[in-house]
Amino acid sequence: MQAPSGRDAPDRCPGAVQVHAAADGGLARVRLPGGRLTAAGLTVLRTAAAELGDPALELTSRGNVQVRALRPGAEHELAARLTDAGLLPSATHERVRNIVASPLSAAVRPLVAAFDALLCATPALAGLPGRFLATVDDGRGDVTPLLGDVGLHGSRLTLAGRPTARHGGPELLVCAAEAFLAERAAQASRAWRLAELDDGPARVAARLGTTVSDIPLTRLDPPEPGIHGSSAVLAVPLGLLTPAQSAALAGEIIVTPWRTVVVPTSTMPQAVASGLVADPASPWAGVTACAGRPGCAKALADVRADARASVLAGSSEPAHWVGCERRCGAPKGRHVEMLATASGYQRSVRG
Ligand code: SF4
Repeated sequence: MQAPSGRDAPDRCPGAVQVHAAADGGLARVRLPGGRLTAAGLTVLRTAAAELGDPALELTSRGNVQVRALRPGAEHELAARLTDAGLLPSATHERVRNIVASPLSAAVRPLVAAFDALLCATPALAGLPGRFLATVDDGRGDVTPLLGDVGLHGSRLTLAGRPTARHGGPELLVCAAEAFLAERAAQASRAWRLAELDDGPARVAARLGTTVSDIPLTRLDPPEPGIHGSSAVLAVPLGLLTPAQSAALAGEIIVTPWRTVVVPTSTMPQAVASGLVADPASPWAGVTACAGRPGCAKALADVRADARASVLAGSSEPAHWVGCERRCGAPKGRHVEMLATASGYQRSVRG
Protein backbone atom coordinates (compact mmCIF):
# COMPACT_ATOMS: atom_id res chain seq x y z
CA MET A 1 0.00 0.00 0.00
CA GLN A 2 1.21 3.49 -0.81
CA ALA A 3 2.24 5.49 2.23
CA PRO A 4 0.06 8.52 3.04
CA SER A 5 2.91 10.84 2.12
CA GLY A 6 3.19 9.25 -1.29
CA ARG A 7 6.57 7.78 -0.34
CA ASP A 8 6.69 4.09 -1.06
CA ALA A 9 10.30 3.43 -0.12
CA PRO A 10 12.96 4.64 2.28
CA ASP A 11 14.99 7.58 1.00
CA ARG A 12 18.25 6.73 -0.74
CA CYS A 13 20.25 9.79 0.22
CA PRO A 14 23.93 8.93 0.00
CA GLY A 15 26.27 9.06 2.94
CA ALA A 16 29.99 8.63 3.31
CA VAL A 17 29.53 4.95 4.17
CA GLN A 18 26.38 4.21 2.16
CA VAL A 19 27.58 5.69 -1.12
CA HIS A 20 25.33 6.09 -4.16
CA ALA A 21 26.25 4.29 -7.36
CA ALA A 22 26.21 7.19 -9.83
CA ALA A 23 26.94 6.95 -13.53
CA ASP A 24 30.52 8.11 -12.98
CA GLY A 25 31.23 5.92 -9.93
CA GLY A 26 30.56 6.04 -6.19
CA LEU A 27 29.12 9.26 -4.80
CA ALA A 28 29.85 9.97 -1.14
CA ARG A 29 28.17 12.78 0.78
CA VAL A 30 30.02 14.01 3.84
CA ARG A 31 27.81 15.80 6.34
CA LEU A 32 29.22 19.00 7.80
CA PRO A 33 26.88 20.13 10.62
CA GLY A 34 26.58 23.89 10.35
CA GLY A 35 28.87 23.70 7.29
CA ARG A 36 31.90 23.80 9.57
CA LEU A 37 35.11 22.35 8.17
CA THR A 38 38.53 22.69 9.76
CA ALA A 39 41.66 23.27 7.70
CA ALA A 40 42.78 19.73 8.54
CA GLY A 41 39.41 18.32 7.52
CA LEU A 42 39.52 20.17 4.21
CA THR A 43 43.01 18.82 3.53
CA VAL A 44 41.79 15.27 4.19
CA LEU A 45 38.85 15.75 1.83
CA ARG A 46 41.00 17.32 -0.89
CA THR A 47 43.58 14.55 -0.70
CA ALA A 48 40.98 11.80 -0.59
CA ALA A 49 39.13 13.21 -3.60
CA ALA A 50 42.36 13.47 -5.59
CA GLU A 51 43.47 9.95 -4.74
CA LEU A 52 40.15 8.07 -4.72
CA GLY A 53 37.80 9.85 -7.13
CA ASP A 54 37.14 13.13 -8.94
CA PRO A 55 39.51 15.78 -7.53
CA ALA A 56 36.84 18.52 -7.32
CA LEU A 57 34.70 18.69 -4.18
CA GLU A 58 30.99 19.32 -4.77
CA LEU A 59 29.18 21.69 -2.42
CA THR A 60 25.53 20.83 -1.82
CA SER A 61 22.44 22.94 -1.18
CA ARG A 62 22.58 21.86 2.47
CA GLY A 63 26.15 22.97 3.05
CA ASN A 64 27.63 19.48 2.76
CA VAL A 65 30.46 18.21 0.56
CA GLN A 66 30.39 15.37 -1.95
CA VAL A 67 33.18 13.28 -3.38
CA ARG A 68 32.21 11.63 -6.64
CA ALA A 69 33.58 9.19 -9.20
CA LEU A 70 34.94 6.94 -6.44
CA ARG A 71 36.54 3.76 -7.73
CA PRO A 72 34.78 0.49 -6.77
CA GLY A 73 35.61 -0.24 -3.14
CA ALA A 74 37.27 3.13 -2.53
CA GLU A 75 34.44 4.11 -0.16
CA HIS A 76 36.03 1.97 2.55
CA GLU A 77 39.30 3.87 2.33
CA LEU A 78 37.38 7.16 2.26
CA ALA A 79 35.38 6.23 5.36
CA ALA A 80 38.57 5.26 7.20
CA ARG A 81 40.20 8.60 6.37
CA LEU A 82 37.08 10.55 7.36
CA THR A 83 36.84 8.66 10.65
CA ASP A 84 40.48 9.42 11.46
CA ALA A 85 39.84 13.10 10.70
CA GLY A 86 36.76 13.25 12.94
CA LEU A 87 34.47 13.83 9.97
CA LEU A 88 32.54 10.61 10.52
CA PRO A 89 31.75 10.50 14.23
CA SER A 90 28.86 8.05 13.89
CA ALA A 91 28.49 5.36 11.24
CA THR A 92 24.88 4.77 12.34
CA HIS A 93 23.80 8.42 12.22
CA GLU A 94 25.95 9.78 9.40
CA ARG A 95 23.08 10.36 6.94
CA VAL A 96 20.88 12.17 9.45
CA ARG A 97 23.42 14.80 10.54
CA ASN A 98 21.77 17.37 8.29
CA ILE A 99 22.15 20.64 10.17
CA VAL A 100 22.23 24.01 8.44
CA ALA A 101 23.10 27.06 10.53
CA SER A 102 23.49 30.81 10.08
CA PRO A 103 26.95 30.82 8.48
CA LEU A 104 28.13 34.21 9.75
CA SER A 105 27.03 33.69 13.34
CA ALA A 106 29.58 32.36 15.82
CA ALA A 107 26.81 32.17 18.43
CA VAL A 108 25.05 29.27 16.70
CA ARG A 109 28.12 27.03 16.49
CA PRO A 110 27.97 25.67 20.07
CA LEU A 111 24.26 24.97 19.57
CA VAL A 112 25.00 23.03 16.38
CA ALA A 113 27.76 21.03 18.08
CA ALA A 114 25.51 20.23 21.05
CA PHE A 115 22.60 19.17 18.84
CA ASP A 116 24.88 17.03 16.66
CA ALA A 117 26.26 15.28 19.74
CA LEU A 118 22.78 14.65 21.15
CA LEU A 119 21.54 13.43 17.77
CA CYS A 120 24.37 10.91 17.45
CA ALA A 121 23.87 9.78 21.07
CA THR A 122 20.18 9.01 20.55
CA PRO A 123 19.87 5.57 18.92
CA ALA A 124 16.27 6.06 17.75
CA LEU A 125 17.23 9.12 15.72
CA ALA A 126 19.33 6.93 13.42
CA GLY A 127 15.91 6.13 11.96
CA LEU A 128 15.33 9.65 10.70
CA PRO A 129 15.13 9.93 6.91
CA GLY A 130 18.26 11.13 5.14
CA ARG A 131 16.21 14.07 3.85
CA PHE A 132 15.36 15.30 7.36
CA LEU A 133 16.80 18.77 7.99
CA ALA A 134 17.46 20.83 11.11
CA THR A 135 18.08 24.56 10.92
CA VAL A 136 19.78 26.67 13.57
CA ASP A 137 19.11 30.31 12.76
CA ASP A 138 20.61 33.07 14.86
CA GLY A 139 17.24 34.84 14.77
CA ARG A 140 17.85 37.08 11.76
CA GLY A 141 16.22 34.66 9.37
CA ASP A 142 18.80 33.49 6.87
CA VAL A 143 18.37 29.72 7.21
CA THR A 144 14.83 29.40 8.63
CA PRO A 145 13.45 30.03 5.08
CA LEU A 146 15.10 26.76 4.05
CA LEU A 147 12.14 25.15 5.84
CA GLY A 148 13.98 22.72 8.06
CA ASP A 149 11.80 19.99 9.52
CA VAL A 150 12.84 21.15 12.97
CA GLY A 151 14.68 24.34 13.75
CA LEU A 152 15.57 27.09 16.11
CA HIS A 153 14.95 30.70 15.13
CA GLY A 154 16.83 32.38 17.92
CA SER A 155 15.45 30.28 20.77
CA ARG A 156 12.05 29.72 19.13
CA LEU A 157 11.25 26.22 17.87
CA THR A 158 10.18 26.00 14.25
CA LEU A 159 8.51 23.03 12.56
CA ALA A 160 8.70 22.84 8.77
CA GLY A 161 9.84 26.46 8.94
CA ARG A 162 6.76 27.58 10.90
CA PRO A 163 7.13 29.14 14.33
CA THR A 164 5.78 27.51 17.47
CA ALA A 165 5.24 28.95 20.92
CA ARG A 166 8.04 26.83 22.42
CA HIS A 167 11.49 28.16 23.18
CA GLY A 168 14.55 26.09 23.97
CA GLY A 169 17.87 24.79 22.69
CA PRO A 170 19.42 21.61 21.27
CA GLU A 171 17.49 19.33 23.64
CA LEU A 172 14.23 20.73 22.30
CA LEU A 173 15.36 19.97 18.74
CA VAL A 174 15.97 16.36 19.77
CA CYS A 175 12.49 16.18 21.32
CA ALA A 176 11.03 17.62 18.11
CA ALA A 177 12.86 15.07 15.95
CA GLU A 178 11.59 12.27 18.22
CA ALA A 179 8.07 13.71 18.00
CA PHE A 180 8.32 13.62 14.18
CA LEU A 181 9.24 9.93 14.30
CA ALA A 182 6.39 9.22 16.74
CA GLU A 183 3.85 11.05 14.58
CA ARG A 184 5.15 9.33 11.46
CA ALA A 185 4.69 5.94 13.14
CA ALA A 186 1.19 6.92 14.33
CA GLN A 187 0.25 7.80 10.75
CA ALA A 188 1.87 4.60 9.43
CA SER A 189 3.74 6.89 7.08
CA ARG A 190 7.12 6.70 5.36
CA ALA A 191 7.27 10.49 5.00
CA TRP A 192 10.75 11.88 4.53
CA ARG A 193 9.82 15.39 5.67
CA LEU A 194 7.66 16.69 8.49
CA ALA A 195 5.51 18.74 6.11
CA GLU A 196 4.60 15.55 4.24
CA LEU A 197 2.71 14.19 7.25
CA ASP A 198 -1.01 14.87 7.50
CA ASP A 199 -1.23 18.18 9.36
CA GLY A 200 2.41 17.54 10.28
CA PRO A 201 3.48 20.83 11.92
CA ALA A 202 0.32 21.08 14.07
CA ARG A 203 0.38 17.43 15.14
CA VAL A 204 4.07 17.38 15.96
CA ALA A 205 3.63 20.66 17.85
CA ALA A 206 0.78 19.10 19.84
CA ARG A 207 3.07 16.22 20.83
CA LEU A 208 5.42 18.86 22.20
CA GLY A 209 2.63 20.61 24.12
CA THR A 210 2.60 23.65 21.90
CA THR A 211 0.98 25.08 18.79
CA VAL A 212 2.19 26.29 15.44
CA SER A 213 1.83 30.03 15.46
CA ASP A 214 1.33 32.63 12.76
CA ILE A 215 3.91 35.03 14.16
CA PRO A 216 5.85 36.37 11.16
CA LEU A 217 9.53 35.56 11.47
CA THR A 218 12.30 37.87 10.44
CA ARG A 219 13.90 37.06 7.08
CA LEU A 220 17.35 37.82 5.81
CA ASP A 221 18.69 37.27 2.31
CA PRO A 222 21.68 34.93 2.03
CA PRO A 223 24.95 36.82 2.48
CA GLU A 224 26.36 38.07 -0.81
CA PRO A 225 29.96 37.50 -1.79
CA GLY A 226 32.25 40.09 -0.21
CA ILE A 227 33.52 41.14 3.19
CA HIS A 228 31.26 40.74 6.22
CA GLY A 229 33.10 41.98 9.31
CA SER A 230 36.12 39.75 9.92
CA SER A 231 34.85 37.14 7.46
CA ALA A 232 34.59 37.00 3.70
CA VAL A 233 31.93 35.19 1.73
CA LEU A 234 33.22 33.69 -1.51
CA ALA A 235 31.12 32.15 -4.26
CA VAL A 236 32.33 28.81 -5.55
CA PRO A 237 31.65 28.75 -9.32
CA LEU A 238 29.07 26.05 -10.06
CA GLY A 239 29.59 24.70 -6.53
CA LEU A 240 32.74 22.84 -7.57
CA LEU A 241 35.72 23.46 -5.32
CA THR A 242 38.83 22.61 -7.31
CA PRO A 243 42.00 21.30 -5.67
CA ALA A 244 43.72 24.65 -6.26
CA GLN A 245 40.83 26.53 -4.69
CA SER A 246 40.62 24.34 -1.60
CA ALA A 247 44.41 24.53 -1.22
CA ALA A 248 44.11 28.33 -1.19
CA LEU A 249 41.76 28.25 1.78
CA ALA A 250 43.61 28.45 5.09
CA GLY A 251 41.98 28.05 8.47
CA GLU A 252 38.46 26.89 9.28
CA ILE A 253 35.81 27.49 6.65
CA ILE A 254 32.02 27.38 6.70
CA VAL A 255 30.29 25.81 3.71
CA THR A 256 26.94 27.55 3.21
CA PRO A 257 23.75 26.21 1.61
CA TRP A 258 24.21 28.72 -1.23
CA ARG A 259 27.41 27.28 -2.76
CA THR A 260 29.54 29.87 -1.04
CA VAL A 261 32.19 29.49 1.64
CA VAL A 262 32.90 31.77 4.59
CA VAL A 263 36.60 32.31 5.20
CA PRO A 264 38.72 34.66 7.33
CA THR A 265 39.34 37.90 5.42
CA SER A 266 43.08 37.31 5.73
CA THR A 267 42.84 34.41 3.27
CA MET A 268 40.68 36.25 0.75
CA PRO A 269 43.42 37.44 -1.66
CA GLN A 270 44.84 33.97 -2.32
CA ALA A 271 41.36 32.48 -2.47
CA VAL A 272 40.24 35.02 -5.07
CA ALA A 273 43.44 34.42 -7.03
CA SER A 274 42.49 30.73 -7.18
CA GLY A 275 39.17 31.55 -8.84
CA LEU A 276 36.77 31.95 -5.93
CA VAL A 277 34.51 34.96 -6.26
CA ALA A 278 34.27 37.90 -3.84
CA ASP A 279 32.42 40.27 -6.18
CA PRO A 280 28.61 40.06 -5.86
CA ALA A 281 28.32 41.48 -9.38
CA SER A 282 30.37 38.63 -10.85
CA PRO A 283 28.46 36.60 -13.44
CA TRP A 284 29.47 33.48 -11.47
CA ALA A 285 27.60 34.60 -8.36
CA GLY A 286 24.20 32.93 -8.30
CA VAL A 287 24.85 30.48 -11.15
CA THR A 288 24.42 26.91 -9.92
CA ALA A 289 23.92 23.55 -11.57
CA CYS A 290 23.10 19.96 -10.73
CA ALA A 291 25.61 17.23 -11.58
CA GLY A 292 24.25 16.58 -15.06
CA ARG A 293 26.17 14.45 -17.55
CA PRO A 294 28.34 12.45 -17.27
CA GLY A 295 27.81 11.93 -13.52
CA CYS A 296 24.06 11.45 -13.57
CA ALA A 297 22.40 8.83 -15.74
CA LYS A 298 19.14 10.82 -15.82
CA ALA A 299 20.73 13.94 -17.26
CA LEU A 300 19.83 15.14 -20.73
CA ALA A 301 22.87 17.43 -20.95
CA ASP A 302 26.22 18.34 -19.46
CA VAL A 303 24.61 21.21 -17.59
CA ARG A 304 27.78 22.38 -15.87
CA ALA A 305 29.59 22.70 -19.16
CA ASP A 306 26.61 24.53 -20.65
CA ALA A 307 26.26 26.87 -17.66
CA ARG A 308 29.99 27.61 -17.79
CA ALA A 309 29.81 28.30 -21.53
CA SER A 310 26.86 30.62 -20.95
CA VAL A 311 28.77 32.66 -18.36
CA LEU A 312 31.89 32.77 -20.51
CA ALA A 313 29.74 33.95 -23.43
CA GLY A 314 28.65 36.95 -21.38
CA SER A 315 25.47 35.91 -19.58
CA SER A 316 25.16 37.48 -16.14
CA GLU A 317 21.78 36.07 -15.19
CA PRO A 318 21.72 34.10 -11.91
CA ALA A 319 20.12 30.75 -12.69
CA HIS A 320 20.00 27.12 -11.63
CA TRP A 321 20.78 24.70 -14.46
CA VAL A 322 19.32 21.20 -14.24
CA GLY A 323 19.58 18.13 -16.42
CA CYS A 324 16.07 16.79 -15.80
CA GLU A 325 12.82 17.50 -14.02
CA ARG A 326 14.03 16.16 -10.68
CA ARG A 327 15.64 19.60 -10.27
CA CYS A 328 18.31 18.51 -7.81
CA GLY A 329 19.88 21.24 -5.73
CA ALA A 330 17.36 23.91 -6.71
CA PRO A 331 17.53 26.97 -4.48
CA LYS A 332 14.59 27.72 -2.22
CA GLY A 333 12.45 30.63 -3.34
CA ARG A 334 12.12 32.50 -6.59
CA HIS A 335 14.83 31.74 -9.12
CA VAL A 336 15.47 31.34 -12.81
CA GLU A 337 15.74 27.75 -13.97
CA MET A 338 17.41 26.43 -17.09
CA LEU A 339 15.98 22.96 -17.66
CA ALA A 340 17.58 20.60 -20.17
CA THR A 341 15.04 19.02 -22.49
CA ALA A 342 15.33 16.80 -25.53
CA SER A 343 15.09 19.93 -27.68
CA GLY A 344 17.39 22.27 -25.77
CA TYR A 345 17.09 24.36 -22.63
CA GLN A 346 13.80 25.66 -21.32
CA ARG A 347 14.06 28.87 -19.26
CA SER A 348 11.45 29.56 -16.57
CA VAL A 349 11.04 31.44 -13.33
CA ARG A 350 10.18 29.15 -10.42
CA GLY A 351 9.33 29.49 -6.75
S1 SF4 B 1 18.36 17.18 -11.72
FE1 SF4 B 1 18.25 15.27 -12.92
S2 SF4 B 1 20.10 15.33 -14.16
FE2 SF4 B 1 20.43 16.75 -12.47
S3 SF4 B 1 21.48 15.53 -10.90
FE3 SF4 B 1 19.26 15.51 -10.46
S4 SF4 B 1 18.54 13.60 -11.43
FE4 SF4 B 1 20.54 14.09 -12.33
